[in-house]
This record gives sequence, structure tokens and C-alpha cells, in this order.
Amino acid sequence: MSYRSESFLMAGETLKKAFARHGMDACYCATAEEAKEKILSIIPEGSSVTWGGTESMMEAGVIEAVKQGNYEVIDRKSAKTPEEARALYGKIVCADYFLTSTNAFTKDGMLVNIDGASNRVACIAHGPAHVIVLASMDKMCDNVEDAVRRIRTLASPPNAVRVNVQTPCAKTGVCGDCLSPECICCQILVTRYSRVPGRITVVLCGEKLGF
Ligand code: SF4
Repeated sequence: MSYRSESFLMAGETLKKAFARHGMDACYCATAEEAKEKILSIIPEGSSVTWGGTESMMEAGVIEAVKQGNYEVIDRKSAKTPEEARALYGKIVCADYFLTSTNAFTKDGMLVNIDGASNRVACIAHGPAHVIVLASMDKMCDNVEDAVRRIRTLASPPNAVRVNVQTPCAKTGVCGDCLSPECICCQILVTRYSRVPGRITVVLCGEKLGF
């Protein structure tokens, strides 16, 4: 085992206790494949499953596995009109399972997310019965301030490029602290505590995923 793997394994145990103090379950998986299997083992067949914009879940193959599996899949991208999107969102907030990543997490067990449309942070905060968060260990930060800095520096610019918005970071790769009409940093959600036992499960992954 490499020093990095050994360190992540120990951090996984430390973070499990840290997240428990904040009302969230957590576990550590060394690889993306293990994380995928863990996530699929949590979701009972027949459940309604949906997701926010999540590169980590895509890269780990979770979204594809859910689409192929025995679940009621609610895909917001299937909406063809704004009316359909709105009706679908009603189903999304009532889903059994919401899959997402987190833009960052703190070493003492809090999630930090920044969102543009804000459907993702809304569903993390309230709505779906269960939230499963896939987070690679490189998203660990000292504190909330450090997490926001990480997101604005390392996560939002590539995300802006991915979703093809007209923002300073999409043109320069660097945050311009914008107030652009297409800004993807509209809401900052700090999940400090979950008071619904078992609602949020954080699956930590030793392999790098997402931004
Ligand atoms: S330029 Fe705007 S959208 Fe891009 S990271 Fe900064 S605040 Fe967010």
C-alpha cells in the first residue's frame, strides 16, 4: 500500500467520526469501482433515483449503472420543455434517492457546495428522502473558508467550461468574482448538520473524481 493510500485510509476513519458528529453517515472506498458498488448496495431495487449535475457520479459509472438497473429513474435532462422540467422537478424533490457529489468538505465533517441553478443545493438541503454524496479525498479542506476558496479556484472554472456559460472563468480559467447573468456561483450551501438520521451518506473515495 502506498503512503498516500495508507493516509487516505486513516483519514477515512477520522472523517467517518467527524461526519457522524454532524448527523451524516460516511464510509471510505479506495477506488471508484468500490465506491460505485457501495452506492448501488445502499439503494434498494425499485427506488426512485435522481441526481444533480455530478461529474464524480458520472466518472465512477454510477449514473450509467442506475440507468441500466431496476430503479425508477428520474432524469431532469429528459424534459423537453420548461413546463416538463418544472413537472419533473416536482418528482425530483420527492425522490427516494438523490445522487450528488460535493464541491468540497471540511476535515471536521461539513459539506460545502456552490450552485448556479441551485437545484442541486436545494435537494441536498431538503426534499429527497436520501442523499448519497460521492466525494474524492482531494476535496477535503481545512474549514468552510478554505472550501469556498477551493471551489472558486478549482471547481467552478472547469464547471463553467463544462456547461458552456458566459462567465469570466469560462474565458480565462480564473474566477473573476462575477455577477454575470450566467454565473454558476449563486448559492453557497454549508451542510453543517443533518437532523434526519440516515438521510445523508457520504461515500469518500481515494481515487480522484470530478473537479
Ligand atoms: S467568475 Fe463567476 S462563475 Fe466563475 S468562479 Fe467566479 S463567481 Fe463563479
